[in-house]
Amino acid sequence: MKPFVYDLNHEQWKTWMQEHNQPEWRAGQMMDWLYVKRVDSFDEMTNLPKGLRTELDETFHFRALDVITTQESKDGTVKFLFGLYDGHAIETVIMRHNYGNSVCVTTQVGCRIGCTFCASTLGGLKRNLTAGEIVAQVMMAQKYLDRENGRVKSVVVMGSGEPFENYEATIHFIRILNSDRGLNIGQRHITVSTSGVVPNIYRFADEDWQVGLAISLHAPNQDLRSSLMPINRRFPLAELLDSCWYYLEKTGRRLTFEYALIGGKNDQNAHAHELGKLLKGMNCLVNLIPVNYVPERNYTRTPRNQIFEFKRILETYKVNTTIRREHGHDIDAACGQLRARHSNLT
Ligand code: SF4
Repeated sequence: MKPFVYDLNHEQWKTWMQEHNQPEWRAGQMMDWLYVKRVDSFDEMTNLPKGLRTELDETFHFRALDVITTQESKDGTVKFLFGLYDGHAIETVIMRHNYGNSVCVTTQVGCRIGCTFCASTLGGLKRNLTAGEIVAQVMMAQKYLDRENGRVKSVVVMGSGEPFENYEATIHFIRILNSDRGLNIGQRHITVSTSGVVPNIYRFADEDWQVGLAISLHAPNQDLRSSLMPINRRFPLAELLDSCWYYLEKTGRRLTFEYALIGGKNDQNAHAHELGKLLKGMNCLVNLIPVNYVPERNYTRTPRNQIFEFKRILETYKVNTTIRREHGHDIDAACGQLRARHSNLT
């Protein structure tokens, strides 16, 4: 299986060029064609010798992704369904914010974590994506935005899959994204979300960088969280919170907790009080997410006034709280829904 052009960072291109009897500076030309000029083939790299272009073409896959469908929402959200070389499909989303365009990327085909409110896990895990396949999602989004002179301002690793179960590829992807020879997206504009793979939260805290971390929490106690997220039996809530404290102390950064409100399950006032006590004193932000209706799970939405009440209670514990603005409500916006439909998983 050939690697993808986006699998290599600048240093790796330098090594590759040296090994192929090329001057090291060709690596800079390569990065420029890929990330600044954003060409779609080796043929367009006109300042590279013809022989080198042929060699590159024989060694690498240029196209990691084919567009199967593109859905555009009235609010500007764009959802891509991409086909991979082996017939699998993944989703990538562009969201519009007042601070710029954000891209949500996928790190695995499917997911084995099994959160009960998530369509991505239907059908289990098929495989990990390579770093290049993750980079390619951002590049496809950037090329889409190029048509309107737009720019990818931030990236969230919150699509299908558990990034901390594909840790090396995720970290390599972020380094390419952040490189000033790559897309040059600032570390503070990149956020990774995990369901709570505790050992890799420690590793992530030790990476010594400014990349943001979000934890999918979704419940204020062990039993409820285990019933919603089976990973909580592998890495119990108390251990998860220990790793969060370590992250806070090590990085000095604020942590985000994602909390999907599911009607009647975890959205009552008592849950808000329990959560407030759990997170009191932490440098964190709770992001309340009114859960998208998942027909396969029969989950319902929390009424609007209860969402605001939940927020109000958390704030009495001095826990910063926001309510996530919904994107693309008129398209298959919930993570995994488009792919699930495409792959006949529903
Ligand atoms: S929410 Fe994330 S970790 Fe949980 S099943 Fe879905 S994709 Fe996997």
